Amino acid sequence: MSIYNECMLCPRKCCVDRSKSMGFCRQSDNLRIARADLHFWEEPCISGKNGSGTVFFSGCTLKCCFCQNYEVSQENKGYYISAVELADIFLELQHKGAHNINLVSPTPHVPKIIEALDIARPRLIIPVVYNCGGYENVDTIKMLDGYVNVYLPDMKYFNDEYALKYSGTKNYFSEAIASLKEMVRQVGKPQFDDKGIIKKGVIVRHLVLPTLRKDSIAVINELAKSFKSDEILLSIMSQYVPMHKSFEFKELSRRVSTFEYNSVLDEASKFGFNGFSQEREAADKSYIPEFSGRKEYG
Ligand code: SF4
Repeated sequence: MSIYNECMLCPRKCCVDRSKSMGFCRQSDNLRIARADLHFWEEPCISGKNGSGTVFFSGCTLKCCFCQNYEVSQENKGYYISAVELADIFLELQHKGAHNINLVSPTPHVPKIIEALDIARPRLIIPVVYNCGGYENVDTIKMLDGYVNVYLPDMKYFNDEYALKYSGTKNYFSEAIASLKEMVRQVGKPQFDDKGIIKKGVIVRHLVLPTLRKDSIAVINELAKSFKSDEILLSIMSQYVPMHKSFEFKELSRRVSTFEYNSVLDEASKFGFNGFSQEREAADKSYIPEFSGRKEYG
């Protein structure tokens, strides 16, 4: 029996047989991707000069009303490929000069991704980045031990009320912090090569949302309770733009103010965290889905 026959890959634990039906993420037991290419707008230590070898997987375990990528994550845009084809994509991206393999929204596809990594591994020498929404099952993260070098999870909310309202998720924070601890246990403190590209470590992303400044500050405080300031990097993002279903919520129908954003940065600095911030002009639709203007802070 395969893991897909009673899927519990994420905390939703749908327990569906994905060879016959689909759970919340709307994925069968076949690999499905929307795009694979070099990507230049991640954090500088991920994109570097050559770009990050990014593979966007279809489906998501969250349903964020403000998702920039909703056609892929929620409307299932994409095409089916085999694990052998995915391994070929990894090696082709490496051949193009990618600094790493960047797996975006990979959670529903972890068993087949591991299969592809096993095929590619004898020739794959660049780091593997697991770029996820943070709502992870610790057991699934344990499956990735030895396969992933860099974890890049979101930490979206502290208050579960917001997680339910804006991302359709009941127990976001407790699941996210538990899986984050496992990620840090696996890969340890951030390490970089001589070009400043991250070789291993955890970068926690937090998107500041309008009117949720206090929740952002609570997220930073909770991270400070769980991790020493040199154990993780923080990437604090200002790029929020109302889109998709966010207009259903009046409080999310504007951009983040400079005061809101700077107060979250100040909180991160207060605890001595290092990481990345974004220029305010990144909150412009024309930049989506790329990150722009990232700079280091701390
Ligand atoms: S990966 Fe998909 S099917 Fe599996 S538990 Fe999560 S949402 Fe449900």
